[in-house]
Amino acid sequence: MDLAAAQQVLKTTFGYDEFRPGQKAVIEQVLAGQNTLAVMPTGGGKSLCYQIPALLFEGLTVVVSPLISLMKDQVDALNDNGIAATFINSSMAYREINQRLQELRAGDYTLLYIAPERLDSPQFIQALGNLPIKLLAIDEAHCISQWGHDFRPSYLALSTAIEQLPTQPQVLALTATATEQVAQDICQRLQIAPDNEVNTGFARDNLDLSVVKDQDTDQYILDYLAANAAEAGIIYASTRKEVTRIAALLKRHHIQATMYHAGLDDDVRRKNQEDFLYDRVQVMVATNAFGMGIDKSNVRFVIHAQVPGTLEAYYQEAGRAGRDGLPSQAILIYRAKDIQIQHFFIDESEMDDEHKHRSYHKLQLMTQYANTQGCLQQFILKYFGEASEPCGRCSNCRDDRAAQDITTATQKVLSCVVRLHARFGKGVVAQVLCGANNQRIRDLNLSDLPTYGIMNGQRQKSVTELIDFLTATGYLQTQGGQYPTLAVTKNGVAVLKGQTQVYRKTAQTVEQAAPEND
Ligand code: ADP
Ligand code: ZN
Repeated sequence: MDLAAAQQVLKTTFGYDEFRPGQKAVIEQVLAGQNTLAVMPTGGGKSLCYQIPALLFEGLTVVVSPLISLMKDQVDALNDNGIAATFINSSMAYREINQRLQELRAGDYTLLYIAPERLDSPQFIQALGNLPIKLLAIDEAHCISQWGHDFRPSYLALSTAIEQLPTQPQVLALTATATEQVAQDICQRLQIAPDNEVNTGFARDNLDLSVVKDQDTDQYILDYLAANAAEAGIIYASTRKEVTRIAALLKRHHIQATMYHAGLDDDVRRKNQEDFLYDRVQVMVATNAFGMGIDKSNVRFVIHAQVPGTLEAYYQEAGRAGRDGLPSQAILIYRAKDIQIQHFFIDESEMDDEHKHRSYHKLQLMTQYANTQGCLQQFILKYFGEASEPCGRCSNCRDDRAAQDITTATQKVLSCVVRLHARFGKGVVAQVLCGANNQRIRDLNLSDLPTYGIMNGQRQKSVTELIDFLTATGYLQTQGGQYPTLAVTKNGVAVLKGQTQVYRKTAQTVEQAAPEND
């Protein structure tokens, strides 16, 4: 079997002339019988990577996909293309499932879609064992890794399930979101040789990333929608309550909007989803329950009204804009208090301490993304382990305010934190730096410190903002829950040693800001 045959299927069955980046390499490797991990951005065309081999192979291709709600649509679309595909899901009656399995054994189908939860059933795994499975395609494969942001226990059952099959099928894992660690984990669990990872990179050249800060969220959204009235888009929020509130706000302003969250009845959810997919409404307001696998190509913007908990989640949700390759916007509205909501989710979750610790760290990186003054795309790609140049399109690359060297001011703040032995929060640090003379400072004898008053003459508020900036950009870190204390990070130590310079863009002109920074 060779690539020419694959090219032929691409043309005759799917009507495309050229492979997209990565598709050829993945298909070639799969046809050569190699277990493979494909890391391609959302909209990169991962489906064809298993559909084309499925059509060329003898035997059955089983597709594991978490999108129960969309399975039927996908299978219908394949059937319309003349491809014998079917699905088995939990909504089907026992008799119906048996009937389907019988047809599958008889070789009536090329593709079978199942939800990962099916693999929780030993009977079902046994039934799979009787099918001539040639290829097992695992979509959203990052769900198998506890390092990932969307771990699902059913996915863990996958590797055991594969072992239990009498003949080991070939495996193709696919994902749009995997840090190096997650990719390694996928490979290890699914017995994919690390060399067999095909990674086209995460960059989405048609996606303009922006961070919006210090603005009224509702007004920003209304203004944006007024200026983009003809475009379809998604607005994400962290809680059902906020989703409901924003959806009502839009309706009051006569914007065609619908909503989606896990608290709505199945049929309402399905209807709302279809209203959006089939362009009956302009805007979908949703929690993260919406979107995995949604193949709506003309989504022109994704606005996060609240910051999500990890960069992986953010980039995956943002990546639902512009699947058709046309220019699209990914906008993050950032307010520090929304970080508290994510903090709360972690606190309240049933994760063990190690897991919580990791989640706090990921949240910290999300905060850094929202506050970095460097290229946003570069920041994300670096997070996924990819080196790149500034994109030139994101809100930071387009920010032409002058950057000021604030290295000296930074050193003052950091050395004060060091002197305080990481025992105090930003309030006390700012007071010491500004030389505040109050009871607390006197009680603690903090006025004896050599850093006491070294930022004398500056407003405490602007010193506090500087501390926030240094925390968000990773020179300081906070520790502890309700009254977090400040500590200097490794990057911060490098500044203290004079090894790195720190720059900051502010709305002020250089002259006005100069006294702040001396
Ligand atoms: P994802 O990687 O997000 O799963 P899909 O497989 O859903 O992406 O593909 C996204 C869109 O791109 C689909 O509409 C698909 O038909 C289209 N597509 C895939 N491969 C090609 C190609 N080689 N040429 C043109 N369009 C393609
Ligand atoms: Zn950029």
